Amino acid sequence: MANHDGSPSPRALRQYLQDLERAGVTTLPRIELPEKPVAQPVSEGPITVARPAEPSPESPTTPNVADQSIEVTAQSQQPALPAHAGETPNQPLQDQGEVTTSAEERLAALADRVAACTRCELLAEARTQTVFGVGDPNANLMFIGEAPGADEDRLGEPFVGRAGQLLDRIIVACKMTREEIYICNILRCRPPGNRNPSQQEADNCREYLNEQIQIVNPEYIVCWGTVAAQNLLGMNRPIGKMRKQFFQFGTARVLCTYHPSYLLRNPSAKKDVWDDMKFLFAEMGVNLEENR
Ligand code: SF4
Repeated sequence: MANHDGSPSPRALRQYLQDLERAGVTTLPRIELPEKPVAQPVSEGPITVARPAEPSPESPTTPNVADQSIEVTAQSQQPALPAHAGETPNQPLQDQGEVTTSAEERLAALADRVAACTRCELLAEARTQTVFGVGDPNANLMFIGEAPGADEDRLGEPFVGRAGQLLDRIIVACKMTREEIYICNILRCRPPGNRNPSQQEADNCREYLNEQIQIVNPEYIVCWGTVAAQNLLGMNRPIGKMRKQFFQFGTARVLCTYHPSYLLRNPSAKKDVWDDMKFLFAEMGVNLEENR
């Protein structure tokens, strides 16, 4: 007897097994049946990969600085650049089938985000405007200062007051122009009364600084003054003990020296800064003493 699908009926199967037993067959080989395939849902459209949510510039919440910061290491080590997932600084994205965006465009987009930022409520309320950064979007050399002062807040550009004019003279002495360098600050808004940035404010603004460094991708960075040096490198050493040596930050070599506003109050320290510039430019392959 067979079932309607052709398979033997239980009765016929039992009879068959009894016949085998009578013939001396007591065991049968085990047969592994293939697993039943699981049905897969069929996508009806293109598959979309979700990007990580961008932090809202309007959000007053404090970003996780530890997640954003570029690792600082001993001078001989080369930490990985803090590229966002799937992103390489200044590298065209054509291979990935995405629209190519220049460093200039990326900085402009970031500047728009910064202009709307209110993470530091007091600073955002008091500012005339944000002071993002100026210079060559592909500069080999980046200057980082402390925070905008009154002149910078009014004009929207870093280093434009008296200290900025002294910085310009230093740049000329180094046989460069301001336009060849990228210049920005630890903070993008002026602290009231030109006080030092609080740690919270520096942490709030760190994401923007990191992105600027990532986009410009400079080979060398100069930190002007204690606030810039200690914040960028996450160190508590006095600026005097951070001079005349290079720190490694991402792929950039970092030199720390006195802030130009300190030089206005202590002109004798100008010689120290000039020594630091010679030290930096010698590393860059330029002899500043030649043809002076
Ligand atoms: S200092 Fe930076 S983080 Fe703070 S409000 Fe200004 S742009 Fe935003």
